[in-house]
Amino acid sequence: MHTAIQYSANTQHYLDLEDKYGAHNYHPLPVVLNKGAGVHVWDVDGKQYYDFLSGYSAVNQGHCHPKIIAALTEQAQTLTLTSRAFYNNLLGEYEQFITSFFGYDKVLPVNTGVEAVETAIKLCRKWAYQVKGIKEGAAKIIVCSSNFHGRTVAVISFSTDPVSTKNFGPFVEGFEVIPYNDLPALEKALQDKNVAAFLFEPIQGEAGVVVPDEGYYAGIRALCTEYKVLMVADEIQTGLCRTGNMLACDHEQVRPDMIILGKALSGGVLPVSAVLADNEIMLTIQPGEHGSTYGGNPLACKVAIASLKVLKDENMASNAAAMGELLRAELKKLNSPHISVIRGRGLLNAIVIKHSNPEAAWDLCLALKENGLLAKPTHGDKIRFAPPLLINKEQVLDCVKIIEQSLKVLD
Ligand code: PLP
Repeated sequence: MHTAIQYSANTQHYLDLEDKYGAHNYHPLPVVLNKGAGVHVWDVDGKQYYDFLSGYSAVNQGHCHPKIIAALTEQAQTLTLTSRAFYNNLLGEYEQFITSFFGYDKVLPVNTGVEAVETAIKLCRKWAYQVKGIKEGAAKIIVCSSNFHGRTVAVISFSTDPVSTKNFGPFVEGFEVIPYNDLPALEKALQDKNVAAFLFEPIQGEAGVVVPDEGYYAGIRALCTEYKVLMVADEIQTGLCRTGNMLACDHEQVRPDMIILGKALSGGVLPVSAVLADNEIMLTIQPGEHGSTYGGNPLACKVAIASLKVLKDENMASNAAAMGELLRAELKKLNSPHISVIRGRGLLNAIVIKHSNPEAAWDLCLALKENGLLAKPTHGDKIRFAPPLLINKEQVLDCVKIIEQSLKVLD
């Protein structure tokens, strides 16, 4: 049973509207937001909160970052969409910018994160047939258990979470699941000559911020090179400074063959995602073989350039590293009997709640909300702590006080 709370008539009005007219595909915390700036959001009753979810890491640069909003509003009044039937004056500039930013030959721009994952899968398959020489239709992609790469039918086809898959079949073939953070299992899977790629999250975000052992990325790199298999890093949640480096794979100075970006590529302003790879992979797709009406639109290009510049110019990676260390250290000092694990890297963190009540994590999130901090449980007992990357020391300490105060609800 969830704890019953009374909401203001104003809040209740919006909860009722969504309940009545919206599909029930999410279970939001009962708070209705109407404003955001930096690390804060405000609800319809004017109450201020720290945002410890950051739109699932889309708002790394902070809410309504002035430089990103300036790029958005200026471009929105000039040209928003041409489709790829024609050239536009910003796509080439963006392609040049992002490829030199990350050091890949080419980019393929799309919109939501899952669309970029789908694009990466298609690229892996084309490469398998045209470059590696696998017989058409036989290519296999290795993925990890407890993965989260999005919600389309192809992508849930290799999900191991029954909540994501039940009654959504039949599923797409060509995927093999191995345990996460298990290099021997990867090497075993790579014995199959039909393996085209290994697709993985550098940290499993949705699974509850599962950080693999040191050496995992370097080990994947070595194995993928040895067996001529593409190393494909889904950095949609871990990338763009979230973990204290521009990319999570940078922690081991590893360069994947393909990286998938989304979320903070627009600073939370509109859906912008991308796949980056070199010519050998990218040129396997020919005109007409893949596309998206909105992919590479001038508005997205302008916003993405601004979003990447903000991350670099404002040193968000180093701030995320420092503030993440501080947050975990201060949480450890609380020594709470209700927290069994504190883990994370940079500002992608989670706590695991230990309690006899299975709803304890949800109840804690309600208490956090009452005390001015918004966070959301994932997989029942885990709570992600992932504030915007511009959070400062004073704010982190303030948030830890809120967490300490809120934990009392579990006593
Ligand atoms: N991949 C990862 C690692 C993610 O965390 C997510 C979203 O949470 C996705 C893919 C899907 O992105 P989107 O929700 O924009 O489709």
